[in-house]
Amino acid sequence: MGKIEFNMENIKKCLCTKCAVQIESQCVKDKKKMMLLITQQDLDSPMMMGSDKVPGVYCGTGKATCRDIDTNKTCKCGECPIWEEYNLVIGEPQGYFCREGEAK
Ligand code: SF4
Ligand code: SF4
Repeated sequence: MGKIEFNMENIKKCLCTKCAVQIESQCVKDKKKMMLLITQQDLDSPMMMGSDKVPGVYCGTGKATCRDIDTNKTCKCGECPIWEEYNLVIGEPQGYFCREGEAK
């Protein structure tokens, strides 16, 4: 398994922003607003975004910085194109990268 790149393509593919774990988090909502703003201003490079500003691609960047997420809800990683692309089924942890850290 290669390193999962933190780039716009992967940010767009990632399902974390639609995941039940994050859906009620105010911290995630704020980050999403900021992301939208950056995208609208056409500054949508991952450099501008910074992994701490993006509530997703945790399989590549490690644990979520938002503390108000609910990891008792069901993880969506298994439905994500990146899961398949990087064959994350053979790695650790099995999803919940927002809680457990990046894929190895
Ligand atoms: S890593 Fe899994 S559990 Fe965490 S937000 Fe993303 S899809 Fe949801
Ligand atoms: S596998 Fe999970 S953490 Fe990684 S990009 Fe997909 S939804 Fe996001």
